[in-house]
Amino acid sequence: MNNVYYGKLVFELSKPGRVGYSLPQCEVEGYALTDLPEGLRRQSATILPECDELTVVRHYTNMSNNNFGVDTGFYPLGSCTMKYNPKINEEMAALQDFNIHPAVPAEYAQGALRVYDEVQAMLSEIAGLSRFTLNPYAGAHGELTGLMVISTYHRQRGDVARTKIIVPDSAHGTNPASAAVAGFQIVQVKSTADGTVDVEDLKPLLGPDIAGMMMTNPNTLGIFETKIPEIARLVHECGGLMYYDGANLNPMLGVCRPGDMGFDVMHINLHKTFSTPHGGGGPGSGPVGVREGLEHCLPNPQVVKNEETGLYELVADEQSLGSVSGYLGNFAIIIRAFAYLLSLGKENIPLAGKLSVLNANYIKECLRSHYKLPIDGLCKHEFVFDGLKDEYAGDHHDADHVTTLDVAKRLLDYGFHAPTIYFPLLFHEAMMIEPTETESKDTLDAFIEVMKTIAEEAKADKQLLKTAPHSTPIRRLDDVKAVKEPKFTFKAL
Ligand SMILES: *Cc1c(COP(=O)(O)O)cnc(C)c1O
Repeated sequence: MNNVYYGKLVFELSKPGRVGYSLPQCEVEGYALTDLPEGLRRQSATILPECDELTVVRHYTNMSNNNFGVDTGFYPLGSCTMKYNPKINEEMAALQDFNIHPAVPAEYAQGALRVYDEVQAMLSEIAGLSRFTLNPYAGAHGELTGLMVISTYHRQRGDVARTKIIVPDSAHGTNPASAAVAGFQIVQVKSTADGTVDVEDLKPLLGPDIAGMMMTNPNTLGIFETKIPEIARLVHECGGLMYYDGANLNPMLGVCRPGDMGFDVMHINLHKTFSTPHGGGGPGSGPVGVREGLEHCLPNPQVVKNEETGLYELVADEQSLGSVSGYLGNFAIIIRAFAYLLSLGKENIPLAGKLSVLNANYIKECLRSHYKLPIDGLCKHEFVFDGLKDEYAGDHHDADHVTTLDVAKRLLDYGFHAPTIYFPLLFHEAMMIEPTETESKDTLDAFIEVMKTIAEEAKADKQLLKTAPHSTPIRRLDDVKAVKEPKFTFKAL
């Protein structure tokens, strides 16, 4: 690809005087932009690219062709649930009827508030909890909100000694980060060899200073935490609350519910399990649910139906933890999740979860001949390999030993997105694969075939893998330099 648009910034394509769009004359008599008071007018010209329409179209089309997305290919990124985003969701979110200013009085936004309330009711049913707020903007934001619910609960009981949160060593990095931002100290609990929380390691950690415990289920290894009832009992006995990181709720859908397992607070990622698009930092939505008795702690504003008038109202509860967002969260994402829930319907929601488990186990069983499987047994929606088997990777003392990074880069040459690599931290060569339920068997088979081919290539020609990718617009980057010396600004300006 060597056209003049390729790899250029739109500013580099700019030529003074080129115009792609012109504003019509102002139709309101007596008004002109130059009538603005002197103090409000800009003192220098704006720095904007000057391009004709065709140049702009080619620029953005070329850029979009360099992207990899769920709409272009298989995206087995573990812990991210890159399932297909049905286009009907987009149509619903684009409906003009929902194009309402967020500050519109509740009486004029009854339809939107009803969507909000129905989504919160459906999530409550799916989770087995009493009430959800849809205000938080992301999974991590939901964690922070949920942890603030926990601290609000303890503070309102006058129990201010509970300053610590227990987090398993397998947890997603956002868990300890959110707990720290919420003002807690973090206490780590270990995992056993089978990848689940070690109850014996947990017991001595419990005491009057524990505010709660965060758990992810299935955990970040894709394994169902079977000892939850016992753990929940122990944490509750010591006066703490149980927090469920439900970012990866997908395999649980309609099969089991965090509320029934003894969890008090949880978050859900609408931008994973409920099919709304994500990646590149947003937009997202991290609804937070609570069990009965904790509803008043949820953030304001709360959407409440007035049973007398039948109208939805925006309520600011005095006992609430406060506010975590402007207005009612990422509303367009909430509409997308609503469309998804309604299209699947109550009868099909359990199927989504079960198929995601089937797909993950299918890939795992087909590839365990070539890749190291550190934890055996049935996985849920995802699983972790610990790199290639030695017979393919070579001796790990050798410089040309093939690593997980090399496999991930080579996958790009075959048109697949790489899985999550080097996470979770429990294994040196971790490779975390999550196919989701929306992939066909044909796609899974093609992926399995390529993963086997890469293993054979590793055996035959290590340099081929060490220097991959070969067919992408940009070859292998220096990952460390990209992180340590990122260049965010265009210098020529
Ligand atoms: C994705 C994820 C999060 C964080 O969600 P964001 O929306 O990216 O903030 C938290 N926990 C787990 C287990 C996750 O997979």
